[in-house]
Amino acid sequence: MEKEVSDVICPLPWVHLSSDLDGAMRICCNTYYPGTIVDKNDRTISIYEIETLEEYFNKSSLVEIRKKMLRGVRPKICSKCYDQEDLGIISVRNKFNEIYNKNEKYRKQLLDTSEDGEIEVKVQSIDISLTNVCNLMCIMCSPRASTSLKKYFDMNKIEYDKNFYQKASNKSANDITIKLIENLGHDLGEYLTTGGEPFLNKAHLNAVKMLVKSGESKKIKLTYNTNLTIWSEDLAALWEEFKLVEIHISIDGYGKLNEYIRYGSKWNSILRNLEKLKGRKNLSIQIHCAVQILNIFNIDDLHRWISSINEIEIKNIYFNYVTEPGWLDIRALPWSYKKLAWARILKILENKDCRFHPNMRDLMLYLKEKNTLLEADETKRVVIKKKLLRYQEHNQLEDICEMVPELKYLF
Ligand code: SF4
Repeated sequence: MEKEVSDVICPLPWVHLSSDLDGAMRICCNTYYPGTIVDKNDRTISIYEIETLEEYFNKSSLVEIRKKMLRGVRPKICSKCYDQEDLGIISVRNKFNEIYNKNEKYRKQLLDTSEDGEIEVKVQSIDISLTNVCNLMCIMCSPRASTSLKKYFDMNKIEYDKNFYQKASNKSANDITIKLIENLGHDLGEYLTTGGEPFLNKAHLNAVKMLVKSGESKKIKLTYNTNLTIWSEDLAALWEEFKLVEIHISIDGYGKLNEYIRYGSKWNSILRNLEKLKGRKNLSIQIHCAVQILNIFNIDDLHRWISSINEIEIKNIYFNYVTEPGWLDIRALPWSYKKLAWARILKILENKDCRFHPNMRDLMLYLKEKNTLLEADETKRVVIKKKLLRYQEHNQLEDICEMVPELKYLF
């Protein structure tokens, strides 16, 4: 008889290897911060000290996470997914279950998991980027994920984790990436690269070359979270050797608004690089939008533009919700503004041809969430305005209220 499988399980603690940009091992990239995997002494395990994958997967807090999931207990580290599900939102866990519940290797691994939570290691998915080199200075980002922001933060005396920054600029990222991928065996099916900007990631390019040379590439899906403001012909030339290349383009607004939020980006460069994606056979393209106070009132413009793209199929729009810095979190909006944004999204949903209904509905549910800690009062509104003014002055940007008039009334 088949072992009963609990409904809190996520496949990632079985199949996925994920590291933050500083090398800190984590359960996945979707947790509330930090979500790291620790050793017996509660010390975060670094990718640079992993001896063998067997040891990592079986002698760490990963074992405890798997044991809990098998017993039907929600591990705290995964609260973000469970919290979203409780709100009725489709979580990352839900999405991975949809994929892996049909995966024979994972099914077997799950059923063969020992009472102690130990498994036979079969890493099918990796998320390793290990560099914060990026060409942009997005408003919601920090030097943790963008080298370009270091100068801005230093100049404005804005605090950031300098230790993390140093580690994310580690020059040995190339060696460890290659070593790890060499040791994965033949199970790898998905390789996610984020950033920083993945098209600037030299270690990734070398790893891709190695996977092509070894012949493993034909079984692997490459996934990128890219700002698409730059292009790597060396990388793109190798994509057809892979099973699939899934490109998540980070775009937070239409035209000038995107340039404002993703400072340093040029809308025309994105359009030019979109052209280069046309006609490629094994590509799947999504738009990933970081939803925040600055773009929630203009989601309809973005949606209109995406719907007007003809020669490239946009498979989906995916929303990430900005929670850091807190002043950009849409849950901090007063109710009257939430209702205004809600009405805009309802308009999109009225369009029966809209292919992105489930994600729009999730956005509405998230917007509805009351966050008493963040809910904007007068003092917070002043803080938001001051921060925006400083950002605009420093980057010599026009007033955001010209593009998003709702903000004018909010402050
Ligand atoms: S349940 Fe969510 S947070 Fe936990 S590993 Fe899965 S995707 Fe990541």
